[in-house]
Amino acid sequence: MYSLKPLVTAALLTVLSIPVIAQTKPLYNFQDLSHLYYKKQKDSLTKAWTVPAIYKDKATQKKYKEIWDERTSFFTGAIDGDNYIHDKEVYDYVDGIITEIVQANKALMPVKPMLLIDRSSSVNAYAIGNNIIAVNLGLIVFSRSKEELSLVIAHELSHNILTHPENAMKQRAEWLTSDEYQKSLNAVLDSKYERLTRLKKVIENYSFSRSKHQRYHESDADSLAIILLKKSNIAFKAGFFLRLDSADIVYQQPLKTPVKNYFVAYNLPFEDAWTKKRSKGLSSRAYNFKDTTGVSDSLKTHPDCVERYNKTRSQNVTATLTPIPANITDKANKMLIWNMYSNMSLTPCLYRILLEKDKGNTDAWYDFMFNNIISGLYYSDRELHRFNAIGVIQKEYISKDYYELQTMFEQIPREQLEQLCKQFHNAGFWQNMPSSEKALKSFLYTLALDPDNSTTKKSQAAKAFTTDNANSMYYELAKNFEKQ
Ligand SMILES: [Zn+2]
Repeated sequence: MYSLKPLVTAALLTVLSIPVIAQTKPLYNFQDLSHLYYKKQKDSLTKAWTVPAIYKDKATQKKYKEIWDERTSFFTGAIDGDNYIHDKEVYDYVDGIITEIVQANKALMPVKPMLLIDRSSSVNAYAIGNNIIAVNLGLIVFSRSKEELSLVIAHELSHNILTHPENAMKQRAEWLTSDEYQKSLNAVLDSKYERLTRLKKVIENYSFSRSKHQRYHESDADSLAIILLKKSNIAFKAGFFLRLDSADIVYQQPLKTPVKNYFVAYNLPFEDAWTKKRSKGLSSRAYNFKDTTGVSDSLKTHPDCVERYNKTRSQNVTATLTPIPANITDKANKMLIWNMYSNMSLTPCLYRILLEKDKGNTDAWYDFMFNNIISGLYYSDRELHRFNAIGVIQKEYISKDYYELQTMFEQIPREQLEQLCKQFHNAGFWQNMPSSEKALKSFLYTLALDPDNSTTKKSQAAKAFTTDNANSMYYELAKNFEKQ
């Protein structure tokens, strides 16, 4: 995943708008990106991570080392690629949960695990092994209570305690150097016919035993997680699994009012025809969005949630849940939206903003992002990659409203998109916008609307931005355009 950066300015914005959200501190700085923030830890980790010598068989040990080193380079690559950020407030909140769990379970966790915040919007967390876990922004935004978030964290901590990541590497090394695997592979190579079918069988056998193993692991991790939580006095509710089950339906939520209204609210022109698919493809005509009340289990981020719910519901605790502080959810949501934007996933990005508006959130930062999305779309059109910027999502995952917005992004004529862009630049909300947001506005203006479309011009505009906004979350985006 290659993504972007932070928002230093949200604070000022919220003060000026109706305080739906109390006080938001600045979003992460450019310096909080993992390639900078975790550089030292990364270097020392790389040195410390040497494969244990556990196999007498040379081939197995060699394979084990290979797999072990793959994990190290995956992890260091993720740090260098800025998959992680260190926003102090959000980090401290999540890390505080870990501290609570660790202090109540010292025998199982003598050393406090290392936490990383992953910029991904996917509702997930993961255990890397070696006492490290990562929690995605998507999970923080999705979680409704501290207890719900704690369950996922405790689950990942349990994977590490039970050395599941390490065991998986061993099993792979053992399988890939086993006689059984060699034999079945040789049989494939020796056979004159149906090599592909035979090869598929070999792979299937392995992935079947793996998934069986992993399911077993999931249930072990759940059981231990519940124990860790009980000792920490953090309430467990089996219903959290059912909530996780719905993690993939964020874009299936309908909007409160038609897509058009969100544009008209800024006095922007809007034509209904933009949202109606012009092509007469069967696929678009026959589809009934009312049927999509869920996602099939095989497509889910978290399959088997119902089973996990049934297995654990007897352990339910009656307790009042602790809401996640509004400023944490707010910051995580903004960082997530900014990162989607930087990755040019424009429709999901805007849809999240519209859902926010549906909640009554009047924070002008979202208006600012709405503008950025329209400018971004026009810029992409100018660069002839509009389609890539739309971030098309399969119908199975989206609502009718989402589909209309996506269709609008596909179909709005170039001239009218330009018009939207220009009118957005004169909208009233800019008046009280902080300086770095205004600076980004003029940078995006150059990208999208400047008559001079040369790379030199863009590079100059990028430098003008980065010079004055060296700490800004937006710096990461502008930096990409500095050298052309
Ligand atoms: Zn798991």
